[in-house]
Amino acid sequence: THFGFETVKESEKTRKVCEVFHRVADTYDLMNDTMSAGIHRVWKDVFMERLSPPPGTKLLDVAGGTGDIAFRFVNYMKNSGHPGTVTVCDINPDMLRVGQDRARKKNYTDIDWVEGNAETLPFPDNSFSAYTIAFGIRNVTRIDLALKEAWRVLKPGGRFMCLEFSHVENEALRWVYDKYSFQMIPAMGQVIAGDWKSYQYLVESIRKFPVQETFAGMIESAGFWSVQYENLTFGVVAIHSGFKL
Ligand code: SAM
Repeated sequence: THFGFETVKESEKTRKVCEVFHRVADTYDLMNDTMSAGIHRVWKDVFMERLSPPPGTKLLDVAGGTGDIAFRFVNYMKNSGHPGTVTVCDINPDMLRVGQDRARKKNYTDIDWVEGNAETLPFPDNSFSAYTIAFGIRNVTRIDLALKEAWRVLKPGGRFMCLEFSHVENEALRWVYDKYSFQMIPAMGQVIAGDWKSYQYLVESIRKFPVQETFAGMIESAGFWSVQYENLTFGVVAIHSGFKL
């Protein structure tokens, strides 16, 4: 690969991911909208609908720096008249700052913001009834550890939900998608953010992420039951879910 991540040490990857998000934090929203033509908003809406948090849900949103999932959760609970709490955990203080600024502007006052690594979550066992991670697990160095941590902090009966870029299954569509992502996304990164490399890294990391079935198997290996996935937009992204029994 262009960055040769396979050969560098694990800690090196964690540092690199931090660096990338440090660089993109400020233009993050703009880039998301531009690159996905606004579709990431729809994916996140569907994600929250699939979670359909029941009354009293205690949600932990990991890698949730921008607040995108937390805000949807608060809206969902408000609309359904249910109580619920949400904690956002992200490894990168710059991303948390972006989220907190947005929360202030949008008047979301009841969200907890915690700096922490998905691989070593700073929460006790059995603390939450739902765990979400949206466009985050791909960047985690040791995904198996993050999944084990998700299992640990969830209460029995708790729900795990992951929204992540995945793999387009139809070959013709995949050809188009690969062309778009490999050429257009770094180019747009360069034009909009003056940063080709960070966006090239994002595309690479999507490519390297395990296919739907493999990732489902990893979630099962972490101890989750009833693991399922649903493709959105032909598999450009997928929602994986499971339960802790
Ligand atoms: N969930 C948000 C969304 O959907 O818009 C943000 C997604 S953003 C692409 C990825 C986030 O993962 C960044 O905020 C980054 O700081 C965070 N991240 C990367 N590695 C992490 C880790 N090991 N633990 C927690 N957060 C991590």
